[in-house]
Amino acid sequence: MEEKGRLGIPRALMFYRYFPFWRSFFERLGWKVMVSDGVRQKEKIVYFEDSCLPMKLLVTHAMQLKEKVDHLFIPRLVSIHRTYIMCPKFRGAPDIVRLATERKVSIIDETIDLRKGGISLLQSFLRIGERLGASRQESKKAFREAEQSFSQFQKGWTDRINRLPTRQLFEMDIATPPAGRKAPLRVAFIGHPYNLFDIDINKDLLALTKSLGMEIITSDFLSEQEIDREVSGLSKEIYWSSGREIVGSLFHFLSGGVDGVVFLTSFKCGIDALLQEFIKRRLKVRGGSSIPLLILSLDEHTGREGLTTRLEAFQDVVEQRKTENI
Ligand code: SF4
Repeated sequence: MEEKGRLGIPRALMFYRYFPFWRSFFERLGWKVMVSDGVRQKEKIVYFEDSCLPMKLLVTHAMQLKEKVDHLFIPRLVSIHRTYIMCPKFRGAPDIVRLATERKVSIIDETIDLRKGGISLLQSFLRIGERLGASRQESKKAFREAEQSFSQFQKGWTDRINRLPTRQLFEMDIATPPAGRKAPLRVAFIGHPYNLFDIDINKDLLALTKSLGMEIITSDFLSEQEIDREVSGLSKEIYWSSGREIVGSLFHFLSGGVDGVVFLTSFKCGIDALLQEFIKRRLKVRGGSSIPLLILSLDEHTGREGLTTRLEAFQDVVEQRKTENI
């Protein structure tokens, strides 16, 4: 197919969940998808007051791409769930980037709000396709094919996390290497997808975890029912979809099936601060947990050495607890 132009996707925020879908959709419509690089030195991060690091990184990545592409794709993510909403900062994300780039690049900022019903995601992508000059039929076909390749991608997820470098996790062209020796410890990593998989945020904690002989699992395969069951006993309803997923999966894993749980939070994230409070209270009511829990708060000042020390200490606790329980 003839190349229609270049479309940039910042390597930030929900890139770390939906990139395989997005890339597939745009490529099928004939667009060359360009992704920003990582940020290697923290002074390169675009700073603006009172924001969490993931939002700062979105702007930084958008700035890297703005002169190389015809459009940037920064959807206005209002809701990715039929009932619950995203953090309000996602609504303003395209506007923040527009301001930072001084309106010098076109931004595809279609609203995605799944509370509107079953076909609202398709409708959003039909509008995106229309803006890119595709017919309704072409966009519909690209959407269906993107759905298929995304579901294919999700099937191999646990193997990918444990066998590919973090940087390559979302590269669909890279095949998963064959399984090696089974790791002796299983640890669940919980948090917003960008906190888990953006190595500029977490200094590649996943690689470090694997090098210490721990297998990683995430909440990606928990069903909504499992999440709902875990959050149903809370004194207050959680309205953020990511918050429900985090608290629900954290309590799911603290009930068994893993040797330890690591919760990665963003400093300056109001939602994470509140979730930690929910978690502490619930654990108090339950009388604690027999499965070790490590909570790490991340920001631009977080150093790899500090994280390594804490993870190694956590590994000792996990090993000791496992030996005691045998
Ligand atoms: S949920 Fe927290 S970390 Fe994520 S964008 Fe909102 S404030 Fe930032």
